[in-house]
Amino acid sequence: MRIQIKDIYTIQPDLSIKKCDIYISGGYILGVNSKPDGFMASKIINGHNKLLMPGLVNAHTHTYMNVFRNCADDLPFAEWLFDRIDPMEAKLTPEDGYWGAMLACMEMLSTGTTCFLDMHMFRNQIAQAVYDSGIRAVLSRGLVGEGQNEGGKMRLCDAFEEMARWRECSRLSFMLGPHAVYTCDEEYLNVVAESAKNCGVGIHVHLSESVDEVENCRKKYGVSPVKLLERSGCFDGRTVAAHCVNLSEEDMEILKAHNVSVASCPKSNAKLGNGAADIPALLDKGINVCIGTDSAASNNSLNMFSEMNAMAMYHKCLRRDPTAVSADTVYRMATINGADALGVKAGMVSPGMLADLVILDLDRPQLHPLGDMTAALSYSVNGSEVETVLVNGDVVYHKGEFANIDSERVYYEVDKIAGRIR
Ligand SMILES: [Zn+2]
Repeated sequence: MRIQIKDIYTIQPDLSIKKCDIYISGGYILGVNSKPDGFMASKIINGHNKLLMPGLVNAHTHTYMNVFRNCADDLPFAEWLFDRIDPMEAKLTPEDGYWGAMLACMEMLSTGTTCFLDMHMFRNQIAQAVYDSGIRAVLSRGLVGEGQNEGGKMRLCDAFEEMARWRECSRLSFMLGPHAVYTCDEEYLNVVAESAKNCGVGIHVHLSESVDEVENCRKKYGVSPVKLLERSGCFDGRTVAAHCVNLSEEDMEILKAHNVSVASCPKSNAKLGNGAADIPALLDKGINVCIGTDSAASNNSLNMFSEMNAMAMYHKCLRRDPTAVSADTVYRMATINGADALGVKAGMVSPGMLADLVILDLDRPQLHPLGDMTAALSYSVNGSEVETVLVNGDVVYHKGEFANIDSERVYYEVDKIAGRIR
């Protein structure tokens, strides 16, 4: 489909705002205020009093866990994970994973997220949900294992099989997902890192989320989780490390030296009482910081605007410094930084970029008077302003309707699953 978006306020790569005409074809932005030769629009979107921005990138989540929303809250981390989430997770079927992921895709699309990085446990089911819903994703099969044991090998085989099967889908790409240093031993981490190198994919890992994780790693291996991942080769290619709450100065130097991207999840870290990553320090080091929601079990929302607000607010509060993390910085984290971390050519409204775009309705009480646009996005927008969402140049969401999803069916299936597992 060839789409022209007419006369719309557009966030430029330098974050200024300009009224633009946008020309889209073949999944990409072909022109901004300059009509490509011979371009004939098959669809025109009127941009009057609307804002065009790049789709948000959720750089760490677990979509299948949407079925766990609002049922294990206000608990210590170990009790939350081992006593509440794990027993429910053991009851999930692969089909349950599909419906949880479909619900997550609905939640993300309707609040302006067009791409996410997932860690999952259901081969092909999450990929199927991405394919069906029209969203874009980078998927990683969660890998847990010790040495050369059969379980770890089997999960790695799952990951390879999934990558091979979905090779043709341009909206899907993959990473390997060693879960964390407390669920993968060093020998297994070596195997995973070697496999990632061999198939040319990146690594997606949980890192230094809790104090216990760091202390136990030091006891077992004599080094921090960051150092352990470095020596196992996990940082040799593209790496996205979620959380990074408990880092030493040396850990940060290592992350910077290997160009590791940090996917910070401020609300999940806060809700589980794990603290907050030192984002101002990571930014000072020049580390690429992006934003993730983590799962609906620990947030309990996949709304990236809400996460942007948390990111902008928490660090001002913690540092008692209103300049700590600016609205401009938060906007970049949620768009271009996330896209760069995932290796996706998106995150900016610019010719040659993927047409993963979001249109917001500016005629809302919370957006009058409008003032500074990135401030509005970090402090005033709540996601309900999202009117139209394009992924790969196709309209996948418009005014509450999903082009490819039967929302009634998804609610029915998810509520049925929740009734069974809780
Ligand atoms: Zn996670």
